[in-house]
Amino acid sequence: MLKIMINKKKCISCGVCVEACPADVLEIEDDGKPRVKALNECIVCRNCQHLCLKKAIRVDLQEYKETRYDKDVILV
Ligand code: SF4
Ligand code: SF4
Repeated sequence: MLKIMINKKKCISCGVCVEACPADVLEIEDDGKPRVKALNECIVCRNCQHLCLKKAIRVDLQEYKETRYDKDVILV
């Protein structure tokens, strides 16, 4: 299961994660914070997580024995 967690309290709206995503998974919301718009496009490169200076975004992938993944988004 793939989860992308964005902590909006920690986020400083710098936009780095959105710019760093090679798969156009993230976009900036009206409040200036990122949101996940296309989770299925995520290639789990973790650029967003590694480049966020505030540690406000985390990509969590737990692989199951089944060949397909369930994907969902958690906003905290
Ligand atoms: S890189 Fe981190 S602080 Fe910057 S917009 Fe993304 S989540 Fe927010
Ligand atoms: S892990 Fe990579 S592909 Fe997935 S949202 Fe982050 S930067 Fe984009």
